[in-house]
Amino acid sequence: MIEINSKSLVEELQNLIRIPSRNPPGEEKNLALYLEKRLKDLGLDKELIAEPYENRPQVVARLKGSLGKPKLIINGHMDTVPEGDVNRWSFKPFEGVIKDDKVYGRGASDIKGGIASTLIALDYLLEKDIKLKGDLILQFVIGEETGEPGTKDLLLNKKLVGDYGIVLEPTSLKVANAIKGLAWFHIKFIGKPCHASCPEYGINAIFKALSFCNKIESYSLKLKERKHKLLNNPKVSVTMIRGGVKENMIPESCLVSLDRRIIPNESLESVKREIEEILEGMKREDKDLVYECWIKGNYEPAEIPEDAEIASVMRKNVELVTKERQLPFGLPAATDMRNFVNDAKIPAVTFGPGNLREAHSIDEYVEVKQLVNASKVLILTIKDLLS
Ligand SMILES: [Zn+2]
Repeated sequence: MIEINSKSLVEELQNLIRIPSRNPPGEEKNLALYLEKRLKDLGLDKELIAEPYENRPQVVARLKGSLGKPKLIINGHMDTVPEGDVNRWSFKPFEGVIKDDKVYGRGASDIKGGIASTLIALDYLLEKDIKLKGDLILQFVIGEETGEPGTKDLLLNKKLVGDYGIVLEPTSLKVANAIKGLAWFHIKFIGKPCHASCPEYGINAIFKALSFCNKIESYSLKLKERKHKLLNNPKVSVTMIRGGVKENMIPESCLVSLDRRIIPNESLESVKREIEEILEGMKREDKDLVYECWIKGNYEPAEIPEDAEIASVMRKNVELVTKERQLPFGLPAATDMRNFVNDAKIPAVTFGPGNLREAHSIDEYVEVKQLVNASKVLILTIKDLLS
């Protein structure tokens, strides 16, 4: 069995945590320079790619195999969410404190832990001089936390593609072959303002928004009937409502925002049509209804067959390493796996150490045991697919 030096792995993660790469504002550059040097010292063929943004380079490195195929891509995002209120943390967020076999810090679980496990896996392959036929490609990308096109740019514009993809995200070492997507809808209801002593002269935009919210509640019950094998049902929630100007004024507008979680059997188009149908139905019954509807942001869902080679090889390797039975798994969050599967048509899974519950939280941490096991699973998978 593979022996991983957990001390080096923890030190590697501490190095990564000590270089803040918060997004916003998008300060991945120092981490990119660190990773570039780290890979150069290993003798890898590497480059910094100053696209799509000049000041936020992405790192790509290749460990070349004798045949140059197949190609396996391991993709990890360098950015983290901000630390929030430091006073609420028990440990300094950019120090990488170790306690009870856990490493604490912003990005520990999402997903600097996964990047550290990958680097140590690479160290192992080189140290043991393991010969590969296929190429191992590493992509350390920007802008995942804000839905920016880091991964998409590498895959589509730079044509840095391959035959399999592993997208690092905290899945507690489960192998996700399906992920949910989401769309944020903004709907602005336009009323007619007037003096609140004679509301009958105006049109109350808040009342329009409220009847829409009631319709969304029934729509959410309808969504419970739809089921995806791994991701359960799609969801919709009213998440913001903003309207009115003054106590004695009939409100001239009211903005409602919806968070709609999408399963792979649905598409953004079909979801958009459903929301529009609700609004059009209201309009047919209410000639005073005026609205504007737009999508503020969206991430597509993605899925590959559960028996796709990358998924079954990885599940087998997680079983070998953890001795726990692995079943096909769906991750309720959105990841850059969508760019591999939907945009570049590369079969990919989402996988990594750390728990999604810890991601983005105060006192974010990752268990050392999961880091070590992630390295082992990556090593076994690289050997299976590329040697
Ligand atoms: Zn992440």
